[in-house]
Parts: sequence; structure tokens; C-alpha cells
Amino acid sequence: MSLKPSGPSTGLRLMHVHAHPDDESSKGAATTARYVAEGADVHVVTCTGGERGSVLNPKMDRPDVWENISEIRREEMDAAREILGVQQDWLGFVDSGWPEGDPKPPLPEGCFAAMDVAEAAAPLVRLIREFRPHVMTTYDENGGYPHPDHIMCHLISVAAFEAAGDGTAYPEAGEPWQPLKLYYHHGFHRERTQALHDAMVARGLESPYAERLETWKPDPVHAARITTKVPCAEFFPIRDRALLAHATQIDPDGAWFACPLDVHQEAWSTEDFELARTMVEVDLPEDDLFAGVRELLAEGRLPA
Ligand SMILES: [Zn+2]
Repeated sequence: MSLKPSGPSTGLRLMHVHAHPDDESSKGAATTARYVAEGADVHVVTCTGGERGSVLNPKMDRPDVWENISEIRREEMDAAREILGVQQDWLGFVDSGWPEGDPKPPLPEGCFAAMDVAEAAAPLVRLIREFRPHVMTTYDENGGYPHPDHIMCHLISVAAFEAAGDGTAYPEAGEPWQPLKLYYHHGFHRERTQALHDAMVARGLESPYAERLETWKPDPVHAARITTKVPCAEFFPIRDRALLAHATQIDPDGAWFACPLDVHQEAWSTEDFELARTMVEVDLPEDDLFAGVRELLAEGRLPA
């Protein structure tokens, strides 16, 4: 069963740019499900095929899975796309892998993170000009976590956001279109982790976050970057189903699902973002990625 909007299309368009298949389901997926249910068009762009990802689910760590990992990850993405009710495109770049060792090894030749930013942004500019999103999301300058593909995803997303509306940039990539807002995902911040931990402890449950929180100092500068909390708790079950569709990437018995759904819904009911660029007037903090855009659309002040 795929998610279908309950009403007519709102005309609002949201584009998420992600590094790997599964990132669309682990970051902002309940927000996606909420906007799809409301009738927005949501487009996921996946930069790489996840070819160098690990198999993180012990039940899938088998030779037949490893042999066909690229194909399997495409099938997993197909399933997640259906569950979330989104359109999705691949940029077709090659996963850079997680560099292990000290010092870290050089990036594999030809991988996404080793590419020229302006060159790697070109197919994204084309997709922006085709889909014409009002709002885009990506990761912050640290990648959310410092995977080279996540940092590269940030770089090409910012470059494409800035170039897509400029007719002199990438003239072969279609008619200019300027997205109005750009957000960074901040889904896994300390305040949220502490809230989930406290809620589990209060219910006598064993928290998987205790060890992490011991060394995770409060970071008011980072906390202040969050501008936008989107209420989406009723869509957490769809997020979980989409995530489980990436069976090689998620252990259903692992830490991700250790916090029971109802506890999570009560303890932290939003997904959180940082407004990084805006072309419309906003009033921060806000609770809607389309704040400021809806009003313009309703007044007929946006091109279709
Ligand atoms: Zn990733």
C-alpha cells in the first residue's frame, strides 16, 4: 500500500536531496509523509547508488546479498518510494564509501565525493528546473555526520539552489527556476536524544542512548540553528515502514527501533530543520517548511 494524498494537490512542491538510498527514510521521512498526505508533491533526489555501503542488518549479511548489493539497494529504494508516495530520481554517482583507518585512506577514484562540485551539481540543476520545487532540503556543511558523500550532497545542493534560478548558469539544463527556501536536516540533535532517553527511563525501559549522552555535551550554538520543527508524529509509522524497506541497512531489532513508537511520539513529535536560505519573508521559529510559500501561492503570486 502506498501513501495517497487525502485531498487534491496543493500545488506545493518539496525536493529532498539525499546522498544514499535509505537517507530519505531516516531523515525527514515523517515530514515527507505528512506533506504527501496533505497533497504536496515531494521529490527525492538520491545522489549515489549506495554501492559502497555496509550491510547493517545481521539477517541480511549473506553472500547472495553482498553479490547483488547494487541491485538490492535499488529494489529497496523502489519499495521505500512506494511507501512514502514520492517521486524519486538517481543522479547516478558512485558511493564514496566510509573511509576507515587513521589516517583515512584517499577517496576511491571517480567516486561522488571526489568530483568537481560544479560538474556534479549539473544534473541536480536540471532536476530542479524540471520539478520546480518551492522548498529544498539537504544536510548542513558537516553532512549531518561526516560521510564524504553527505558533505558532497550539501555542496552540490547549495550550488544548485544558487544556480538554478540564474539563466546564465547551466544554460543547457532547462529554464531557470529559483526554489524559495533551503533547509538543512537536524534530526538527531542532543535535545531530542535526551528527551527520548528520559521518556524511556521514566517507563522503566532500557535506553540505548545512555552511553552516547554521557559524553555528548550540550551544544547551545548547534541547538540555536534549529529554526523549524514540523509536527509529524502520526506519520512516524510510515517513516518506520519506509526505513524497514531498506532491509540491508537497518536491523529491525537494533537501536533504531529500541524506543517504542508511542513513547517516541509523546517524547518528541517533530522533525527538525534549519532554514539556511530564504527568498520569502518568514517568522522564526516556524513549524512548516512551506511557511511564507503557502501564502504567496494562495494569493496567486507564484508561478504554477
Ligand atoms: Zn547516507
